[in-house]
Amino acid sequence: MSPETVPAGIPDEAHPPVLELDAVSVTFTSGMGRKRRVMRAMNEVSLAVAAGETLGVVGESGSGKSTTGAVALGLRAPDSGVARLLGRPLNRATKKALRGSVQAVLQHPQWSLNPRRRVGESVREPLTVVGRSLSRAEQQERVAQILERVGLGADMADRFPHELSGGQRQRVSVARALITEPRFIVFDEAVSALDVSVQMQILALIRELQEQHRFGALFISHDLGAVRRVSDRIAVLFRGEIVESNTTESFFTSPQHPYSQQLLETL
Ligand code: ADP
Ligand code: MG
Repeated sequence: MSPETVPAGIPDEAHPPVLELDAVSVTFTSGMGRKRRVMRAMNEVSLAVAAGETLGVVGESGSGKSTTGAVALGLRAPDSGVARLLGRPLNRATKKALRGSVQAVLQHPQWSLNPRRRVGESVREPLTVVGRSLSRAEQQERVAQILERVGLGADMADRFPHELSGGQRQRVSVARALITEPRFIVFDEAVSALDVSVQMQILALIRELQEQHRFGALFISHDLGAVRRVSDRIAVLFRGEIVESNTTESFFTSPQHPYSQQLLETL
């Protein structure tokens, strides 16, 4: 999508959010006795992501971005507030029912790709949980299709991760996330470890796939340039609080909060 295009849509009645955080707070405690520290990683964070829309989440290291992603994925329960996925509060039962509807692409593909497993098996693996109605041959057919979709030849299926470049490995991670046809994907620093030219390719790929598949996305990154390329809207986190929520265009042309202005000055 070019920056001039109208944002894909702030959730409204016609476009119910795929993800909704309503005044979510998360605290971490560490140490014991007098050394006990309470750290508020998220403080009353509210946000929503519509189908087909990407919300960029920016902020300095330690501002609560990854914690926000973990809550959205149902990996961490809020201490207070509510996280809803496809309109349902994220609890154990919902998580099970919605398995495959949510996926994550993280910074280092080696974390999600088993080095001893062929690429095709890693991409197929989520289907062994949610695609059990498909035969093995049907699953392998889906793997070949999805590898093609992310710009990798079907012959990649037989390779091992160490036989791929960093960019190819991240394409495999994207394929693995897409194979269950998720409604919502969290990208956490997903392109931060890649060379700029490879970053551009992956960001363009994410955009293209989103137009086809209409998943909603949370694109978490400390890299404002990358966020600008994929996001419709941007939320700025500062010490666990959203200090600005804006369209991408307005954020970059007329940031409202002093902290946003400060972030942009470092660009
Ligand atoms: P970001 O992704 O923006 O760098 P995080 O969400 O990872 O920030 O962390 C937010 C704050 O919460 C940081 O101060 C971090 O140290 C703290 N934190 C994150 N995860 C944990 C944890 N598992 N235990 C204790 N503190 C944590
Ligand atoms: Mg992080």
